[in-house]
Amino acid sequence: MIELSGITKSFGTLQVLKGIDLLIGKGEIVSIVGPSGAGKTTLLQIMGTLDKADAGTVILNGTEVNRLKEKELSAFRNQQIGFVFQFHQLLPEFTALENVMIPAFISGASSGDAMKRAKETLDFLGLAERASHKPAELSGGEKQRVAVARALINSPAVILADEPSGSLDTRNKEELHQLFFDLRDKLGQTFVIVTHDETLAKLTDRTIHMVDGRISIDR
Ligand code: ATP
Repeated sequence: MIELSGITKSFGTLQVLKGIDLLIGKGEIVSIVGPSGAGKTTLLQIMGTLDKADAGTVILNGTEVNRLKEKELSAFRNQQIGFVFQFHQLLPEFTALENVMIPAFISGASSGDAMKRAKETLDFLGLAERASHKPAELSGGEKQRVAVARALINSPAVILADEPSGSLDTRNKEELHQLFFDLRDKLGQTFVIVTHDETLAKLTDRTIHMVDGRISIDR
C-alpha cells in the first residue's frame, strides 16, 4: 500500500531524513514515534505528497507519486489520502457539514453529491446532530471527529495523522483512537499516525521508531 525507498530530505544544510525504507501493508495501523526533531512529520508529509523528497521513491496504492505532474498529484492526493492534524484545521466560517464537503468539491463532486456524502460520513461518525454547527460551537473531540469525517469523505485508501489526539483530553483521546480502529475494521483503511502518545503507539499494529532521520526500530 505504501512503499518508501531511499528517502532523503534536507532543509538547507540540515539533513532531516537519511535514507528511509518502509513498507506498510493495506489495512495496517502504524505509529511513528521518536524524539522531537527526529523527522517524523517530514516523513509523513513526504508520504502524503505534501512535500518532496530529495531522493528516493514513494509508491502509494501502486502509483509512483514522483512521476505525477503537479495537477495530477493534487488530484491524486485529494482522492487517495486523508489528513488529520493535531489542530483540526476546520474553516471557522463554515459549518461542520460544509467543512466535510470541501475535499469532495475539490474532487469535482456536484454540490448535491458532496452534501449527500458529507451527511453520510457525519452520520457514520455519530455527528449527524452537529452538521449545522460551526467549529466554535463544537467540543474539542467533536471538532477532531469532524476533521476525521473530512479526511474520509473521498474514501481515501490511506489516512495520515500527525499528533491527532495531541490536543484532546483523555476521554476524547480514547474515543478518537477507538474510531481509527473501527474505521480500519469497517472500511479497511491504512493508517499512519505520528504520535508522542505511548498508549496509542502500544495499541497500533506496528511502531516505527525514528531517531535522527533514520528508522531505529520497526516492530
Ligand atoms: P516533533 O516531534 O517535534 O514534531 P519531528 O520528529 O516531527 O518533531 P520534523 O518536524 O520532521 O520532526 O522536523 C525535523 C527537523 O527538520 C527539525 O530540526 C525541524 O526544525 C526541521 N524542519 C522541518 N521542517 C522544516 C522546514 N520547512 N524548514 C526548515 N527546517 C525544517
